[in-house]
Amino acid sequence: MNLFKKKQYVPITGSREGAPVVPDGLWLKCPSCRKAIYQKELGEFKVCPNCSGYFRLSARERLALVADEGTFEETDSGMASKNPADYPGYEEKLRKTSEAAGSNEAVICGFCEVCGNKTALAVMDSHFIMGSMGSVVGEKLTRLFEKAVEKRSPVIVFSASGGARMQEGIISLMQMAKVSAAVKKHSDAGLFYISALTDPTTGGVSASFAALGDVILAEPGALIGFAGRRVIEQTMKQKLPDGFQTAEFIMDHGFIDKIAERAEMKDTIGALLALHRGSCDGAA
Ligand SMILES: [Zn+2]
Repeated sequence: MNLFKKKQYVPITGSREGAPVVPDGLWLKCPSCRKAIYQKELGEFKVCPNCSGYFRLSARERLALVADEGTFEETDSGMASKNPADYPGYEEKLRKTSEAAGSNEAVICGFCEVCGNKTALAVMDSHFIMGSMGSVVGEKLTRLFEKAVEKRSPVIVFSASGGARMQEGIISLMQMAKVSAAVKKHSDAGLFYISALTDPTTGGVSASFAALGDVILAEPGALIGFAGRRVIEQTMKQKLPDGFQTAEFIMDHGFIDKIAERAEMKDTIGALLALHRGSCDGAA
Protein backbone atom coordinates (compact mmCIF):
# COMPACT_ATOMS: atom_id res chain seq x y z
CA MET A 1 0.00 0.00 0.00
CA ASN A 2 3.05 2.20 -0.13
CA LEU A 3 1.84 3.30 -3.52
CA PHE A 4 -0.97 5.37 -2.02
CA LYS A 5 1.27 6.98 0.56
CA LYS A 6 3.82 8.06 -1.96
CA LYS A 7 3.87 11.82 -2.12
CA GLN A 8 4.96 11.93 -5.71
CA TYR A 9 2.34 9.52 -7.03
CA VAL A 10 1.02 10.85 -10.35
CA PRO A 11 -2.47 9.75 -11.41
CA ILE A 12 -2.80 8.19 -14.86
CA THR A 13 -4.67 11.22 -16.24
CA GLY A 14 -1.74 13.53 -15.51
CA SER A 15 1.27 13.60 -17.73
CA ARG A 16 3.94 15.74 -19.23
CA GLU A 17 2.71 18.40 -21.65
CA GLY A 18 -0.94 17.53 -20.94
CA ALA A 19 -0.98 14.25 -22.87
CA PRO A 20 -2.35 11.27 -20.92
CA VAL A 21 -0.09 8.28 -20.38
CA VAL A 22 -1.36 5.32 -22.40
CA PRO A 23 0.63 2.23 -21.40
CA ASP A 24 0.32 -0.86 -23.59
CA GLY A 25 -2.99 0.18 -25.15
CA LEU A 26 -4.87 -0.59 -21.93
CA TRP A 27 -5.88 3.02 -21.45
CA LEU A 28 -7.58 5.17 -24.07
CA LYS A 29 -8.20 8.90 -24.03
CA CYS A 30 -11.88 9.79 -24.22
CA PRO A 31 -12.47 12.07 -27.23
CA SER A 32 -15.17 13.96 -25.29
CA CYS A 33 -13.92 14.47 -21.71
CA ARG A 34 -10.22 13.78 -22.50
CA LYS A 35 -9.89 11.49 -19.46
CA ALA A 36 -7.90 8.26 -19.64
CA ILE A 37 -10.34 5.36 -19.60
CA TYR A 38 -9.51 1.73 -18.89
CA GLN A 39 -10.27 -0.04 -22.17
CA LYS A 40 -12.23 -2.89 -20.57
CA GLU A 41 -14.63 -0.39 -19.00
CA LEU A 42 -15.83 0.74 -22.44
CA GLY A 43 -17.87 -2.37 -23.23
CA GLU A 44 -19.09 -3.39 -26.69
CA PHE A 45 -20.73 -0.01 -27.34
CA LYS A 46 -17.51 1.86 -26.51
CA VAL A 47 -19.21 4.45 -24.32
CA CYS A 48 -17.10 6.51 -21.90
CA PRO A 49 -18.07 5.56 -18.30
CA ASN A 50 -17.11 9.07 -17.16
CA CYS A 51 -19.01 11.34 -19.58
CA SER A 52 -21.10 8.89 -21.73
CA GLY A 53 -19.27 10.17 -24.83
CA TYR A 54 -18.73 7.79 -27.73
CA PHE A 55 -15.44 6.37 -28.92
CA ARG A 56 -15.30 5.84 -32.68
CA LEU A 57 -15.98 2.28 -33.85
CA SER A 58 -14.21 0.38 -36.60
CA ALA A 59 -16.42 -0.97 -39.38
CA ARG A 60 -16.15 -4.51 -37.98
CA GLU A 61 -17.11 -3.35 -34.48
CA ARG A 62 -20.13 -1.52 -35.92
CA LEU A 63 -21.15 -4.56 -37.96
CA ALA A 64 -21.09 -6.71 -34.82
CA LEU A 65 -23.47 -4.25 -33.11
CA VAL A 66 -25.94 -3.97 -35.99
CA ALA A 67 -26.10 -7.22 -37.99
CA ASP A 68 -27.72 -10.30 -36.44
CA GLU A 69 -24.99 -12.70 -35.43
CA GLY A 70 -23.74 -14.94 -38.24
CA THR A 71 -25.95 -13.39 -40.95
CA PHE A 72 -23.55 -10.92 -42.62
CA GLU A 73 -22.31 -11.91 -46.07
CA GLU A 74 -19.79 -9.44 -47.45
CA THR A 75 -19.84 -8.31 -51.08
CA ASP A 76 -16.91 -7.03 -53.17
CA SER A 77 -14.50 -7.66 -50.30
CA GLY A 78 -11.49 -8.02 -52.60
CA MET A 79 -11.86 -4.63 -54.28
CA ALA A 80 -8.89 -2.38 -53.47
CA SER A 81 -7.84 1.11 -54.59
CA LYS A 82 -5.20 1.79 -57.22
CA ASN A 83 -3.56 5.14 -57.71
CA PRO A 84 -5.54 6.63 -60.64
CA ALA A 85 -4.17 10.17 -60.28
CA ASP A 86 -0.56 9.06 -59.63
CA TYR A 87 -0.63 10.85 -56.30
CA PRO A 88 2.82 10.63 -54.65
CA GLY A 89 2.94 8.18 -51.74
CA TYR A 90 -0.71 7.08 -52.08
CA GLU A 91 0.05 3.39 -52.66
CA GLU A 92 2.28 3.33 -49.60
CA LYS A 93 -0.42 5.06 -47.52
CA LEU A 94 -3.00 2.52 -48.70
CA ARG A 95 -0.74 -0.38 -47.82
CA LYS A 96 0.04 0.91 -44.32
CA THR A 97 -3.59 1.84 -43.61
CA SER A 98 -4.82 -1.56 -44.79
CA GLU A 99 -2.45 -3.30 -42.41
CA ALA A 100 -3.39 -1.07 -39.45
CA ALA A 101 -7.15 -1.09 -40.10
CA GLY A 102 -7.36 -4.78 -41.00
CA SER A 103 -9.45 -4.06 -44.11
CA ASN A 104 -8.60 -2.97 -47.64
CA GLU A 105 -10.99 -0.03 -47.97
CA ALA A 106 -12.97 2.55 -46.00
CA VAL A 107 -16.32 0.79 -46.44
CA ILE A 108 -17.55 -2.76 -45.86
CA CYS A 109 -20.66 -3.77 -47.81
CA GLY A 110 -22.90 -6.82 -47.74
CA PHE A 111 -26.26 -8.36 -46.95
CA CYS A 112 -27.46 -9.46 -43.53
CA GLU A 113 -30.41 -9.52 -41.17
CA VAL A 114 -31.15 -6.82 -38.60
CA CYS A 115 -33.62 -7.93 -35.90
CA GLY A 116 -34.68 -10.67 -38.32
CA ASN A 117 -35.23 -8.28 -41.27
CA LYS A 118 -33.22 -8.94 -44.43
CA THR A 119 -31.31 -5.90 -45.65
CA ALA A 120 -28.26 -4.58 -47.48
CA LEU A 121 -25.77 -2.95 -45.10
CA ALA A 122 -22.75 -0.72 -45.67
CA VAL A 123 -20.50 0.50 -42.86
CA MET A 124 -17.80 3.13 -43.35
CA ASP A 125 -14.63 3.15 -41.27
CA SER A 126 -13.12 6.46 -40.12
CA HIS A 127 -9.90 4.61 -39.24
CA PHE A 128 -9.19 4.06 -42.96
CA ILE A 129 -7.81 7.37 -44.37
CA MET A 130 -10.51 9.17 -42.37
CA GLY A 131 -13.26 7.16 -44.07
CA SER A 132 -12.63 9.13 -47.23
CA MET A 133 -14.55 8.23 -50.39
CA GLY A 134 -12.37 7.23 -53.30
CA SER A 135 -13.24 5.24 -56.41
CA VAL A 136 -13.50 1.92 -54.55
CA VAL A 137 -15.75 3.25 -51.77
CA GLY A 138 -18.03 4.78 -54.43
CA GLU A 139 -18.04 1.63 -56.56
CA LYS A 140 -18.76 -0.71 -53.63
CA LEU A 141 -21.67 1.46 -52.47
CA THR A 142 -23.04 1.79 -56.02
CA ARG A 143 -22.93 -1.98 -56.52
CA LEU A 144 -24.64 -2.52 -53.17
CA PHE A 145 -27.55 -0.26 -54.14
CA GLU A 146 -27.78 -1.95 -57.56
CA LYS A 147 -27.81 -5.42 -56.01
CA ALA A 148 -30.41 -4.23 -53.50
CA VAL A 149 -32.67 -3.21 -56.42
CA GLU A 150 -32.28 -6.70 -57.95
CA LYS A 151 -33.07 -8.35 -54.63
CA ARG A 152 -35.80 -5.83 -53.71
CA SER A 153 -33.92 -5.18 -50.51
CA PRO A 154 -33.76 -2.13 -48.23
CA VAL A 155 -30.35 -0.52 -47.67
CA ILE A 156 -28.74 0.78 -44.47
CA VAL A 157 -25.58 2.89 -44.68
CA PHE A 158 -23.55 3.91 -41.63
CA SER A 159 -21.50 6.94 -42.68
CA ALA A 160 -18.24 7.97 -41.03
CA SER A 161 -16.15 10.08 -43.33
CA GLY A 162 -14.03 13.16 -43.74
CA GLY A 163 -15.34 13.48 -47.31
CA ALA A 164 -13.89 12.83 -50.75
CA ARG A 165 -10.40 11.28 -50.95
CA MET A 166 -8.09 14.04 -52.12
CA GLN A 167 -5.47 11.58 -53.39
CA GLU A 168 -7.90 10.53 -56.16
CA GLY A 169 -8.81 14.08 -57.19
CA ILE A 170 -11.76 14.45 -59.55
CA ILE A 171 -12.29 10.66 -59.62
CA SER A 172 -13.23 10.78 -55.94
CA LEU A 173 -15.55 13.74 -56.48
CA MET A 174 -17.48 11.96 -59.25
CA GLN A 175 -18.34 9.20 -56.75
CA MET A 176 -20.77 11.64 -55.13
CA ALA A 177 -22.86 11.77 -58.30
CA LYS A 178 -22.42 8.06 -59.06
CA VAL A 179 -23.60 6.80 -55.67
CA SER A 180 -26.40 9.39 -55.59
CA ALA A 181 -27.66 8.14 -58.97
CA ALA A 182 -27.70 4.57 -57.63
CA VAL A 183 -29.63 5.75 -54.55
CA LYS A 184 -32.18 7.41 -56.87
CA LYS A 185 -32.68 4.20 -58.87
CA HIS A 186 -33.17 2.30 -55.60
CA SER A 187 -35.71 4.93 -54.50
CA ASP A 188 -37.50 4.86 -57.89
CA ALA A 189 -37.92 1.10 -57.42
CA GLY A 190 -39.93 1.90 -54.28
CA LEU A 191 -37.30 0.59 -51.90
CA PHE A 192 -36.35 1.83 -48.46
CA TYR A 193 -33.03 3.46 -47.50
CA ILE A 194 -31.90 4.32 -43.96
CA SER A 195 -28.88 6.60 -43.61
CA ALA A 196 -27.22 6.54 -40.18
CA LEU A 197 -24.74 9.34 -39.55
CA THR A 198 -21.90 8.79 -37.09
CA ASP A 199 -18.97 10.91 -35.98
CA PRO A 200 -17.77 12.42 -38.30
CA THR A 201 -19.95 12.67 -41.43
CA THR A 202 -18.59 15.54 -43.48
CA GLY A 203 -17.57 16.76 -46.93
CA GLY A 204 -18.59 14.88 -50.07
CA VAL A 205 -20.25 12.07 -48.13
CA SER A 206 -22.54 14.40 -46.15
CA ALA A 207 -23.26 16.20 -49.43
CA SER A 208 -24.33 13.05 -51.30
CA PHE A 209 -25.69 9.64 -50.25
CA ALA A 210 -25.56 10.29 -46.47
CA ALA A 211 -28.13 13.07 -46.89
CA LEU A 212 -30.42 11.05 -49.20
CA GLY A 213 -31.91 8.52 -46.79
CA ASP A 214 -35.69 8.10 -46.63
CA VAL A 215 -35.02 8.16 -42.91
CA ILE A 216 -31.85 9.79 -41.57
CA LEU A 217 -30.63 8.77 -38.11
CA ALA A 218 -27.61 10.06 -36.20
CA GLU A 219 -25.62 9.23 -33.12
CA PRO A 220 -25.65 11.83 -30.30
CA GLY A 221 -22.89 14.42 -30.50
CA ALA A 222 -21.74 13.35 -33.98
CA LEU A 223 -20.02 16.01 -36.09
CA ILE A 224 -22.13 16.39 -39.23
CA GLY A 225 -21.54 19.06 -41.84
CA PHE A 226 -19.94 19.94 -45.15
CA ALA A 227 -17.01 22.35 -44.72
CA GLY A 228 -15.32 22.84 -41.36
CA ARG A 229 -16.21 25.62 -38.94
CA ARG A 230 -13.02 27.62 -39.59
CA VAL A 231 -13.45 27.54 -43.37
CA ILE A 232 -17.04 28.80 -43.12
CA GLU A 233 -16.19 31.51 -40.58
CA GLN A 234 -13.31 32.77 -42.69
CA THR A 235 -15.38 32.74 -45.88
CA MET A 236 -18.55 34.26 -44.41
CA LYS A 237 -16.71 36.60 -42.03
CA GLN A 238 -19.24 35.60 -39.39
CA LYS A 239 -19.09 33.79 -36.05
CA LEU A 240 -21.04 30.54 -36.08
CA PRO A 241 -23.34 29.52 -33.19
CA ASP A 242 -22.20 27.08 -30.48
CA GLY A 243 -22.92 23.45 -31.21
CA PHE A 244 -23.00 24.19 -34.95
CA GLN A 245 -22.60 20.95 -36.97
CA THR A 246 -23.51 18.61 -34.13
CA ALA A 247 -26.25 16.00 -34.58
CA GLU A 248 -28.40 17.87 -32.03
CA PHE A 249 -28.05 21.20 -33.86
CA ILE A 250 -28.98 19.84 -37.26
CA MET A 251 -31.79 17.78 -35.73
CA ASP A 252 -33.26 21.09 -34.47
CA HIS A 253 -32.90 22.48 -38.00
CA GLY A 254 -34.72 19.63 -39.70
CA PHE A 255 -31.84 17.87 -41.45
CA ILE A 256 -32.22 14.53 -39.66
CA ASP A 257 -35.18 12.54 -38.35
CA LYS A 258 -33.97 11.00 -35.12
CA ILE A 259 -30.97 10.87 -32.82
CA ALA A 260 -30.54 7.32 -31.54
CA GLU A 261 -28.19 6.27 -28.74
CA ARG A 262 -25.67 3.69 -29.88
CA ALA A 263 -27.24 1.05 -27.62
CA GLU A 264 -30.68 1.56 -29.19
CA MET A 265 -29.58 2.05 -32.82
CA LYS A 266 -30.09 -1.59 -33.85
CA ASP A 267 -33.61 -1.79 -32.39
CA THR A 268 -34.51 1.54 -34.01
CA ILE A 269 -33.38 0.26 -37.42
CA GLY A 270 -35.07 -3.09 -36.88
CA ALA A 271 -38.37 -1.36 -36.09
CA LEU A 272 -38.09 0.87 -39.19
CA LEU A 273 -37.32 -2.12 -41.42
CA ALA A 274 -40.27 -4.07 -40.02
CA LEU A 275 -42.53 -1.04 -40.56
CA HIS A 276 -41.47 -0.69 -44.20
CA ARG A 277 -41.28 -4.38 -45.07
CA GLY A 278 -44.38 -4.02 -47.22
CA SER A 279 -42.42 -1.87 -49.69
CA CYS A 280 -39.75 -4.53 -50.22
CA ASP A 281 -40.02 -8.23 -50.88
CA GLY A 282 -37.13 -8.62 -48.44
CA ALA A 283 -35.54 -11.32 -50.60
CA ALA A 284 -32.00 -10.33 -49.70
ZN1 LIG B 1 -15.47 10.76 -21.54
